[in-house]
Amino acid sequence: MIELQKAAYNYGDGEMLSEISLKLAPGSFHFLTGPSGAGKSTFMKLCYMELIATAGQVRLFGDDVRQMSRDEIARTRRRIGVVHQDCRFLDHLSLRQNVALPLIVSGRDPGDETENLQELLQWVGLGHRADALPQELSGGERQRAALARAVIMSPDVVLADEPTGNVDSEMSQRILQLLIELNKMGKTIMIATHDLALIRMAKSQVNTRVLRIANRRVQSAGVDL
Ligand code: ADP
Ligand code: MG
Repeated sequence: MIELQKAAYNYGDGEMLSEISLKLAPGSFHFLTGPSGAGKSTFMKLCYMELIATAGQVRLFGDDVRQMSRDEIARTRRRIGVVHQDCRFLDHLSLRQNVALPLIVSGRDPGDETENLQELLQWVGLGHRADALPQELSGGERQRAALARAVIMSPDVVLADEPTGNVDSEMSQRILQLLIELNKMGKTIMIATHDLALIRMAKSQVNTRVLRIANRRVQSAGVDL
């Protein structure tokens, strides 16, 4: 699904990530940990092509990111749902419209998918909040809305960057359950987090692999968290 071979990223003053070699298999569930500033978000961006590796290779669904045409990039992006660390909603659009944006961007008519959209909002527990504006939502509601938007195109992979960053532990657990459900449906999941309690909670329910970024490298972390 996602494969990096000696990939590196450099923002301009030395390598932030070096020699990353890694494979995320279909249906796998990964956590990515490491202190703030270690490069978790940077790594995620390499995986969804917001950034292009400055050395080495990134392959998505078998294709080298550097060799892709614009059409291939667009098609590949649809297969990867992203929950951004900062949610990134358009403030003047309702929750329903924000969640439907990927449909519009890909040329589909959200009017044809009203039912799907409502079902998805209900799945994340926001059926009753569909007309609210982003700024009227709580942190937990925003994160769940971001998750709904990430999966509206039925992606094969879901990358969630600190999806429980600003929420209490009960809401963290709820968001984790949604991600576990997606994994049970066959989706490949990667969650960047420094919340070890969240990882422990997941480990008791699904087979997870924990990666840690330290000293610019991604390593397998020990199992005893
Ligand atoms: P994390 O998600 O683990 O907290 P990030 O990947 O966001 O880490 O950032 C890793 C490092 O890269 C930080 O030192 C950050 O300041 C730096 N960085 C992030 N984005 C940029 C950018 N656009 N330009 C320059 N430096 C950046
Ligand atoms: Mg980050």
